[in-house]
Amino acid sequence: MTVLITNIGELTTNVRSADGDPTGTLHDAAVLIDDGRIVWVGAAADAPQADETDDAGGAAVIPGFVDSHSHLVFGGDRAVEFEARMAGQKYAAGGIRSTVAATRAATDDELRARLRGFIEELRAQGTTTVEIKSGYGLSVVDEERLVRLAAEVTPEVTFLGAHVVPAEYADRGDEYVDLVTGPMLDACAPHAKWIDVFCETGAFSVEQSRRVLEAGIARGLAPRVHASQLGPGDGVRLAVELGAASIDHGTYLTDADVEALAGSDTVLTLLPGVEFSTRQPYPDARRLIDAGVTVALACDTNPGSSFTSSMPFCIAVAVRDMGMTPAEAVWAATAGGAAALRRDDVGVIAPGYRADLVLLKAPTRIHLAYRPGVPLVDQVWKDGVVVA
Ligand SMILES: [Zn+2]
Repeated sequence: MTVLITNIGELTTNVRSADGDPTGTLHDAAVLIDDGRIVWVGAAADAPQADETDDAGGAAVIPGFVDSHSHLVFGGDRAVEFEARMAGQKYAAGGIRSTVAATRAATDDELRARLRGFIEELRAQGTTTVEIKSGYGLSVVDEERLVRLAAEVTPEVTFLGAHVVPAEYADRGDEYVDLVTGPMLDACAPHAKWIDVFCETGAFSVEQSRRVLEAGIARGLAPRVHASQLGPGDGVRLAVELGAASIDHGTYLTDADVEALAGSDTVLTLLPGVEFSTRQPYPDARRLIDAGVTVALACDTNPGSSFTSSMPFCIAVAVRDMGMTPAEAVWAATAGGAAALRRDDVGVIAPGYRADLVLLKAPTRIHLAYRPGVPLVDQVWKDGVVVA
């Protein structure tokens, strides 16, 4: 059955136009969907016949958000830690351990119910593709549970056993890396697509990170890296050397890091919710984009450093505080996220792509930054079906 979405006031396709505009914006446009895929895009006046027609009423339509970084399987929350931080306490990687205890104590059914609630929450805000990491189990049994549960709701599952060294391995980081690259990887690799590591002071050294990533690559997982969140380090160089799809955070980048990224296929995924929620300085997205780095935006939904699941919120912060234009921020939250996941079937509205679209209660995507905090997501289509 074909469905035509017509009378679209502003359509962001992300198909680079002849004049070099990466958003490929069309006005008075229409999109034809057949069997979950986009089959035609063009001027509403030229639209083909369809079995059903859906009138967008002149609204703006964008691709569904591709959130390439989240930690949605966990127990408990850290509201009290957030409150203390807002009263002046500094964020440190060690806080992850309190979520580990709560996650280990939760049953599969409890974690699953929570996870499904988050997926609904994301969809209602326009996210149609989400990556989910493990990293709050940190034992063979618990990491296996987390990647297995994540795989129930998304194909984009990341094994992050090397999130932080658990309390029982304190001062024995290398032994913990033996566990991660051995029995834990054996248990988790069948459920995962990606291998990730937190390469940062207080988490894992660059040597340990290399061991983790190389072990994952040897098992057929593709690398991505958390790095340069709390200070500058060698994580970016390692990520680029190993051909990682993305390095995430990148709050503290040297000129050499920026140059290495610009000359690579590695995406830099910025996570504005983290700086918002930890009161760290925002990274300068303008510097990165001007240098030719491919930038993605993601929520990093997690109970410690960024408990938002709203891509519109992240877009608003990226525009207000990181120097991105609204067009760049929307691109980064859609096509940029797809690049960070090496996906060529989402993040773009063009024939052959999945019919994942968001109708906004607004005449232009600019409103996503211009009207922060206002629920502008009107209707969400995933694989050609209205899901929110
Ligand atoms: Zn993260």
